[in-house]
Amino acid sequence: MIQIFSPIQPINFQSLTQVFVKRDDLIDTYISGNKWRKLKYMIKEVTSSQKKHLVTFGGAYSNHLLATAALAARAKLKSTAFVRGENVNNEMLMLCKLFGMQLIFTARDAYKDKEKLFKNHFGNDSGAYFIDEGGASELAVKGCAEIITELPQSYDHIFCAAGTGTTAAGLLKGINQQKIESKLNVIPVLNGGQFIENEISKYQSDLTQLTIHTDYHFGGYAKTTPELLQFIKSFVSETGLLIDPVYTAKMFYAIYDLSSKNYFKKNDKILAIHTGGLFGILGMKDKFNGILV
Ligand SMILES: *Cc1c(COP(=O)(O)O)cnc(C)c1O
Repeated sequence: MIQIFSPIQPINFQSLTQVFVKRDDLIDTYISGNKWRKLKYMIKEVTSSQKKHLVTFGGAYSNHLLATAALAARAKLKSTAFVRGENVNNEMLMLCKLFGMQLIFTARDAYKDKEKLFKNHFGNDSGAYFIDEGGASELAVKGCAEIITELPQSYDHIFCAAGTGTTAAGLLKGINQQKIESKLNVIPVLNGGQFIENEISKYQSDLTQLTIHTDYHFGGYAKTTPELLQFIKSFVSETGLLIDPVYTAKMFYAIYDLSSKNYFKKNDKILAIHTGGLFGILGMKDKFNGILV
């Protein structure tokens, strides 16, 4: 058994007093948050088989690529990533390469057919193991469901940010399995986030405790507004908890905005899942010009 450190801590910000955060960001610096949860059972499957090479997919600032690269290095496995778009270099990809990951930059059209890319490049490599973009899979859902088994008490609301919706599916699975009453509030970070419901329903059929809040994407994936950046500045400086503009800031913004709209009952206990991924903030550093003075 691997021991992980993911405590639950209270947050004192604005007037909301019953907000807690599960610090999955503390599980590991590089294999952080939900990426660790998602890879947990895949890496078990890999190490108990003849597989020696993790092959995965992501954008140029993907937290999943960094997590996969670091995990592969520790497990003495090879790693390769198909990176969406033209050849670039940035802080995230630099770290991936440092962990030994091979990067194959792939035009957006070709990138869409991941199975084909895998087959064309690694069809003859019997040691290659396919990991979907963001780590999405049934095993990832299983890993994320364990978050719920670690909760020492009940919460009226549980919040998470969603990209593919795999983490949300896992949380809902955990909620349904443990038969707890919590409502799962999901904040899609992409525009048109209602599709997340469909993604979640691939893994979980009972959606009664699910609510998707689609108005907190701030323009779309990796898009921000001065208002969101200002929120990050206030939140981080007043709580000491670092959040990132791509995922966790949108979730926390939603919690405080919903509160101002009287979404919660007076004594509701709220749990936010800090899904980690803090290196993503490096891709946004120029956006903070003018905010951080
Ligand atoms: C990848 C990521 C998510 C999105 O998780 P999904 O399971 O794809 O919905 C949320 N938060 C952080 C910090 C991430 O890195």
